Amino acid sequence: MPQAEKEYDVIIIGGGPAGLAAALYTARDRYSTLILEKNGLPGGQIMLTEHVENYPGYQKISGFELVEQMKAQVASFGAETVIGKAANAIRRRDDGKIEVDVNNGELTYVARAIIVCPGSDYRSLDVTGETEMRQATRVSYCATCDGAFYRGKHVLVIGGGNTAAEDTVYLATRFTEKVTMIHRRTEFRAEKVLVEELYAAADEHNIDIKLPYVPTEIVATENGQDIDHVKIQNVETGAIEELNVDGVFIFVGMNPNTAWLQGIVDIDESGYIKADPVTMKTSMPGVFTAGDCRCAAAMQLATATADGVVAAMQLRDYFRDPSSWSGGQCDHSTEGW
Ligand SMILES: Cc1cc2nc3c(=O)[nH]c(=O)nc-3n(C[C@H](O)[C@H](O)[C@H](O)COP(=O)(O)OP(=O)(O)OC[C@H]3O[C@@H](n4cnc5c(N)ncnc54)[C@H](O)[C@@H]3O)c2cc1C
Repeated sequence: MPQAEKEYDVIIIGGGPAGLAAALYTARDRYSTLILEKNGLPGGQIMLTEHVENYPGYQKISGFELVEQMKAQVASFGAETVIGKAANAIRRRDDGKIEVDVNNGELTYVARAIIVCPGSDYRSLDVTGETEMRQATRVSYCATCDGAFYRGKHVLVIGGGNTAAEDTVYLATRFTEKVTMIHRRTEFRAEKVLVEELYAAADEHNIDIKLPYVPTEIVATENGQDIDHVKIQNVETGAIEELNVDGVFIFVGMNPNTAWLQGIVDIDESGYIKADPVTMKTSMPGVFTAGDCRCAAAMQLATATADGVVAAMQLRDYFRDPSSWSGGQCDHSTEGW
């Protein structure tokens, strides 16, 4: 039998920006708050970047520094955080309280309400050099986040879906001197209208579309700080070419960290948690969500924290009247952003 831990008003699953913002509000509202974080360090994905330029109030700040400030602020209001605890199940008891199992049943925590914020991970290609150049911030998965760092530069976009088509146009029309775009198939998977827009923008904005190509290696300069070139292979002929680019954007989708919630709350076909976008309520009474894991999330720091705030404020109403609950709706696709 898992050992039952002390009870909280609120348990927040995931210590990224969404979870930290939710905790700030719940702890400041004097609700006993516990953050469960599976990693050794809370903070989430934003910790992976040196340069955040689009979070209001900071002209430029590293993700790590921003998170340090968020964590200190949350702790100052008394929220507790436990690290190394991956939630793997939640269930509602007859008395309305909710149990959270962590580390495959090693421990069970109990709360009056839960805010689920496990985020989503960008899918990687596992191509040689990707990890190293990601660490050097020369490989990105988010044009809104990093496009502005490539003014007047040449970047390679990899992908063939809606995000790849839209963000190639976004990068080429706003920032870059040139975008080379490759996709492994002879046709794009993106919607027809987006593909038309892509080709319409190609001539005017120096977009070179190469099909069907795959990357085979991202080669660093000698000091390991920049990309020297990327090797790409023509899938039909097998011929390898070398491209001199300053950055690589990989748009091959995201994996919401929600597999453990299948069959517990409603989840869409791509794995995102269905939630009312106005209240953050999921299909299970007492369980809210926030951030990049939710259906139709905008996948930004500011929107993740905003979600966390909304969930925390809605939770007050839920505690006042737990009997009324309507959640789990989501009519928008996440791919649209
Ligand atoms: C390299 C990079 C650069 C970025 N740059 C920007 C930028 O400049 N501007 C911007 O607005 N956005 C940027 N983003 C996006 C931004 O980081 C995300 O939108 C934001 O972090 C989402 O917050 P979140 O809390 O929803 O999820 P996450 O940040 O993913 O946090 C989720 C947390 O939950 C934890 N977790 C997951 N599953 C469990 C579980 N079962 N139990 C317990 N804990 C769990 C994870 O370990 C993680 O700490 C960037 C992202 C990356 C990767």
